[in-house]
Amino acid sequence: MATNDELPIEPHETFDTILVLDFGSQYSHLITRRLRELNVYSEMLPCTQKLSELSWEPKGIILSGGPYSVYWDDAPHVDPAVFDLDVPILGICYGLQEIAWHFGKNVLAGEKREYGHAFLKVERHSGKNTHVDALFNGLEDDMEVWMSHGDKLSNLPPSFVTIATTSNAPFAGMAHEDKPYYGIQFHPEVTHTPRGTQLLKNFAVDICKARQDWTMGKFVDQEIARIRALVGEKGQVIGAVSGGVDSTVAAKLMQEAIGDRFHAVLVDNGVLRLKEAQQVKETLTKHLGINLTVVDASERFLGLLKGVKDDPEKKRKIIGNTFIEVFQEEAKKIAAEAAGSSKAGEIEWLLQGTLYPDVIESISFKGPSATIKTHHNVGGLLAGMHLKLIEPLRELFKDEVRELGTNLGIPEELVWRHPFPGPGIAIRILGEVTPEQVRIAREADHIFIEEIKAAGLYRKISQAFAALLPVKAVGVMGDKRVHDQVIALRAVETSDFMTADWYPFDGQFLKKVSRRIVNEVEGVCRVVYDITSKPPGTIEME
Ligand code: GLN
Repeated sequence: MATNDELPIEPHETFDTILVLDFGSQYSHLITRRLRELNVYSEMLPCTQKLSELSWEPKGIILSGGPYSVYWDDAPHVDPAVFDLDVPILGICYGLQEIAWHFGKNVLAGEKREYGHAFLKVERHSGKNTHVDALFNGLEDDMEVWMSHGDKLSNLPPSFVTIATTSNAPFAGMAHEDKPYYGIQFHPEVTHTPRGTQLLKNFAVDICKARQDWTMGKFVDQEIARIRALVGEKGQVIGAVSGGVDSTVAAKLMQEAIGDRFHAVLVDNGVLRLKEAQQVKETLTKHLGINLTVVDASERFLGLLKGVKDDPEKKRKIIGNTFIEVFQEEAKKIAAEAAGSSKAGEIEWLLQGTLYPDVIESISFKGPSATIKTHHNVGGLLAGMHLKLIEPLRELFKDEVRELGTNLGIPEELVWRHPFPGPGIAIRILGEVTPEQVRIAREADHIFIEEIKAAGLYRKISQAFAALLPVKAVGVMGDKRVHDQVIALRAVETSDFMTADWYPFDGQFLKKVSRRIVNEVEGVCRVVYDITSKPPGTIEME
């Protein structure tokens, strides 16, 4: 077990790490992602990173693409010290141009911009310097690649040779004759370059000699040791859980590390899904052994939501602010109790389920003069408690969190759960949120999700729910005229939640869901299906 004097270990200290220096390309994070898929650990830092301030040694460095032109006066440039380190360097697009600029200042605007697919011809130099061929080892001589650039090299910088060309880019790939420096004009990190991952593997594994040992099993052991070292023998941690995958995985990790010194709090805001508070409680306490307090604040939330009709933002604000108040009150209670017990120290830490994309977002390089945003945190959340943040998932991507969850024994159902908004079904009840409206929306949603699961579609669909529309329509039920409400079903497929398309259910499926909702949910006489993509629609309705 770790002791207080032991310093917490960061992943880059134990895993061979490829450092991605970000010049602001929209694909930069994908480079990191692809390397981790190869079980090679990778981290991204802004291109302005001073290497003398880096406390660890990368096995290799990748310079990403970027929207600038290297010859601009205010273009961002890499710390020239990278070329003094004894590690391989790969420049991608802007990164290639940056290497060329460093060695020869020979980059200019091309006559023709090149976006999209291109055919690459690989040039081999076997016999002379074999290392120059290493990047394209095992790849075909003709490759399909994805390009997105307007600038080009006018000629090769001194000591470089061409290793690939396209019809428009005579220097689509280059390598240094003596040193392990490579540059490519195309993007290997996007799926439109089918063999791109192999190329990244050639660089990371063969050229940089990085071990492929980044596995979740190892991460768990190390992260548990790190949490213990950080928190110490007595320290206590508090954190909110929602029943979603991120907060559950983070909570389980804390429980493994420090047991009951981690206090999880679930706030029942009255707008969770049907029977959700009970279910989350069951799973977290009985199945996962987490020290959990459930605060039933539903009446308080619903009381405040009363009368709020036409202003979705107001609903969101009420729920967000009340959540903070309730959580804070509970945290103070738990802290007071903890202070009274002799076996543990004070609550000093607040758990947050921050993921790597949030970290990347906060450090990513947005412009030569742009100040880099500081990472958002809820430090101010628990005013007066002066809690330090602990973020055990901050190095992980979403799918890595899921893998970690599975590793920690979290039920599949929870690991693959669709995202659920903080304001809950309050923003799926258009119009006023009353206990009766909550009942209707909950029951309809439950039937819809149940049928999606029964049809084996839950994992295919990214997010699905039933919304309650604030209008009444006429229907006839049991020969009697009824005037009841309308449920709108929404189900979308998306890979990043930035854009989304509605899911094309077959008619039989919709028929069944509609029949069940109208029959089983009192107060509903019609069901419609939302066929709006995002954009222009959002995923949620409010
Ligand atoms: N801005 C540079 C160009 O147009 C680099 C582009 C990129 O890195 N995708 O060539």
